[in-house]
Amino acid sequence: MTGYAELLKEKGLKATFQRMTILSVIERMGHATVDEIYESVLETHPTLSLATVYKNIVAMVGQGVLVEVPISGRKSKYELKKSEHLHLICTECGEVEDRPLDRVIGEDTRKIAENSSFELQGRQVNLYGVCAKCRTALAS
Ligand SMILES: [Zn+2]
Ligand SMILES: [Zn+2]
Repeated sequence: MTGYAELLKEKGLKATFQRMTILSVIERMGHATVDEIYESVLETHPTLSLATVYKNIVAMVGQGVLVEVPISGRKSKYELKKSEHLHLICTECGEVEDRPLDRVIGEDTRKIAENSSFELQGRQVNLYGVCAKCRTALAS
């Protein structure tokens, strides 16, 4: 869990045990919904409420510690803010996979913003589709 306390303080948030626990759960899971995070947090902290977990996740998204990954037709997943990457999101099972953000896509989106006098503050490239596992299952 080293690093979480510094990270939180750096972003202007108190390093509470709730937040540290949530961060370690998300780091372990990669991408997870509020419900999945809550379930995992309960294993070590059974007294925490869903509302508390949710409130802390929202606060950490607001301060740029966590990133919300929207999944069409499903609940959003959350991940630790990492270096920029692209998501492959399965609309059948909700699985999210990280892939390196291609240089060209990265450059193009930056240029579009620049040419539109749009001050770019963040971006997220999400590809939606059906993963190999689900395609196999759907075909059988
Ligand atoms: Zn899938
Ligand atoms: Zn990701």
